[in-house]
Amino acid sequence: MSIAIDGNKCIGCGRCIEICPGGIIKKNQDHKAFLKRPQDCWSCGSCMKVCSAEAVFMYLPVELGGRGGRMTLQRNGSRMEWTVTRRDGSSVTLTTSADTANRY
Ligand code: SF4
Ligand code: SF4
Repeated sequence: MSIAIDGNKCIGCGRCIEICPGGIIKKNQDHKAFLKRPQDCWSCGSCMKVCSAEAVFMYLPVELGGRGGRMTLQRNGSRMEWTVTRRDGSSVTLTTSADTANRY
């Protein structure tokens, strides 16, 4: 399980680089973010949450998304819509609130 960054969407703001606890996101020569050491990503999702360009997505393990499954995040104000899309195109979306996230 690891994130990936869509270079076509990335605007090079650098927020994911600042927030990644492992320091494993870097910028390439085009000032686009990329994951330098995917094997070190522990899929905390922080980079997904801070990316206003929705350029970051997460590959899911087979158990969660089926082979080739991925999860994307779309923000709508404080609403965070997490969508799991399977290889066959089917999807499911879970909505959480940024206002109450990480409150236990
Ligand atoms: S937060 Fe998003 S837009 Fe900004 S550098 Fe990272 S991937 Fe690119
Ligand atoms: S999911 Fe977490 S550990 Fe992985 S690249 Fe993003 S911020 Fe870094």
